[in-house]
Amino acid sequence: ILRSLLNKKVPLQLGRVCYSSSSVPTTKLFIDGKFVDSNSSEWLDIPNPATNEVIGRVPIATQGEMLAAVDSCSRAFHSWSETSILSRQQVFLRYQQLIKDNIKELAKMITLEQGKTLADAEGDVFRGLQVVEHACSITSLMLGETLPSITRDMDTYTYRLPIGVCAGIAPFNFPAMIPLWMFPIGMVCGNTYLMKPSERVPGCTMLLAKLLQDAGAPDGTLNIIHGQHAAVNFICDHPAIKAISFVGSNPAGEHIYERGSKNGKRVQSNMGAKNHGVVMPDANKENTINQLVGAAFGAAGQRCMALSTAIFVGESRQWVPELVERSKSLRVNAGDQPGADVGPLISPQAKARVESLIQSGVDEGANILLDGRNVNVKGYESGNFVGPTILSGVKPSMKCYKEEIFGPVLVILEAENLDEAISLINNNPYGNGTAIFTTNGATARKYTHEVDVGQIGVNVPIPVPLPMFSFTGSRGSFRGDTNFYGKQGIQFYTQIKTVTSQWKAEDATLSGPAVTMPTMG
Ligand code: NAD
Repeated sequence: ILRSLLNKKVPLQLGRVCYSSSSVPTTKLFIDGKFVDSNSSEWLDIPNPATNEVIGRVPIATQGEMLAAVDSCSRAFHSWSETSILSRQQVFLRYQQLIKDNIKELAKMITLEQGKTLADAEGDVFRGLQVVEHACSITSLMLGETLPSITRDMDTYTYRLPIGVCAGIAPFNFPAMIPLWMFPIGMVCGNTYLMKPSERVPGCTMLLAKLLQDAGAPDGTLNIIHGQHAAVNFICDHPAIKAISFVGSNPAGEHIYERGSKNGKRVQSNMGAKNHGVVMPDANKENTINQLVGAAFGAAGQRCMALSTAIFVGESRQWVPELVERSKSLRVNAGDQPGADVGPLISPQAKARVESLIQSGVDEGANILLDGRNVNVKGYESGNFVGPTILSGVKPSMKCYKEEIFGPVLVILEAENLDEAISLINNNPYGNGTAIFTTNGATARKYTHEVDVGQIGVNVPIPVPLPMFSFTGSRGSFRGDTNFYGKQGIQFYTQIKTVTSQWKAEDATLSGPAVTMPTMG
C-alpha cells in the first residue's frame, strides 16, 4: 500500500513530508516551514492495524526540537497576526481546494495507519474539510461589536484579536477531522499553531501540513512535533503557549485540562463517551435498525459519537433479533478491501481490551447475542479484528456499561418508559451524544429538553454538528467552557479588546478634573 502511495500519480511529495527513503520509513517533524528528520534516539513503530506489519516509525521529539518548534511559532506570530484578514482568508480558500483535490490520498493514508475503511476515511477528511470551509468565513466570524453614543460624544467598540501561540493534541480515531478542528480555526484568527498529532497516526497531519504550506501559509505559522506524555507536558508547561485544544481519552484530557489551566492557559478538552440510543415502540423500525447498526459498528465503534448503548423502550425490545441479523451481514475486512464495513481496531492492546470487556459482560450476566471475538478475516489473520458484538440484558452496574468500550460492541438495556430511559442516561457520567428514534414529536421534544447530554439526534444516530454550530459534548465528556469550532471555536482562539473613545467638539472643554467614578450616564 505504501508503495502505491509513493507512485508518481500521488500529487503530494510524500517522501519529503512524511517518510524518508530508508528501509524503515520515518516520520518527519515540521519546524519553521521545513520537514526535518528528528535527532531523537527514541522512536515508536507505526503498525498497519490490518496486518500489524510496521509501516513506519515516528520520533519522540527531543526537548531541543520541541523548543525550536515553539520558538518558530512565537517568531511567526507578530507578522501573521498583523497579516490582513483577507490574506489569511485567501490561504484557507486555497487550502480547502487542495484538501478537496487530495481527498483520496489523505484517505489512503488514514486507512493505512488507522485501519478504517476507505469510504469512512474519506468521510473523516470531508468532515474536517467542512471546518476549513467554515474558517473561510472569518471576515464575518471575527467581527466585533459597536455601540455608538453610550454617552455624549462617546462610543464603545470591540475587536476580536488572536491570542498568540496555540497548541493542539489529537487522538488516533479521526486523523484528518480532529486536527482540522484545531489548527485551521486557530490560524485563520491570526494565531500560530503547534500541533501534536496522535503518535499512532501521524501521517495524515503531515500531509495536511504540506497542503497548508502549498496554500501559502508562511513558515512558522504551523509547526508539528511528535511524541507522547513528554510532548503533552511540554505543551502544558511552555509559557509561550496560550491555549490548548485537546481531544482524546478522559485520563489524558483531565490531566491536560488541569495542568494547562494551572499554568494559566485556556484549555478545551473533548473526552470519552457512552452514547445511548433510545428506541421508542412508535419508531420507524426499518430505519431505526439500520441506523443503530451503522452507528454502533461503523469505524469499528472507534468514534466518540458511536452509538454504543441502545435502550429499547417497551415493545420495541421485540426488534432485537432483527438487529442481530442485520449486524451479522456486516463484512469485517481490511479497510482498503472492497466492500469492507468494519475494519480493525487500532492495536492488539485495544483488541485485547475490547475482548476482555465483552467477557466481563458475559461474566456479569449479560446475554451475548452476537460474538465478534475470534472473527476470521482471510488474508489478515494477524490484524486487530473484532466483529460486531451485541450484549443484551446489560445493567448499569456492569463494567461493560460503565466503561467506554471503543470497539464494535453494542450493549442493550431495556426501559419500561421514556422517563426511565432518560433517568438511566442522566445517571451516566458522560454527556457527549445521544439519539432518540420516534415518530412522535411530543416524545422527541420531551427527550431533547430533559436529557442531560450536549448533542442530541432525533432520528439522527450520530448528531455531530456542522461547523456553523459547535461540538457541544457536556458533563464527563468535556472540560472547559468554550467548545470546538463554530462561534465558540472563534471565541476560544480570540480575545476581546474593548475600546471606549470620546471625541468632543472643540468647544466642549471640561471645566475641571472629574474625581468621582465615571458613570457615563
Ligand atoms: P488518548 O487520550 O490515548 O490520546 C490522545 C492524545 O493524548 C494523543 O496525542 C496521546 O499522545 C496523548 N496522551 C495519551 N495518553 C496520555 C496521558 N496519559 N497523558 C498525556 N497525554 C496522553 O486517546 P486516543 O486513544 O487516541 O483516542 C480515543 C479517545 O478519544 C476515546 O476516549 C474517544 O472517546 C475520545 N475522543 C473524543 C472525541 C470528542 O470530541 N469528545 C473525539 C474523538 C475521540
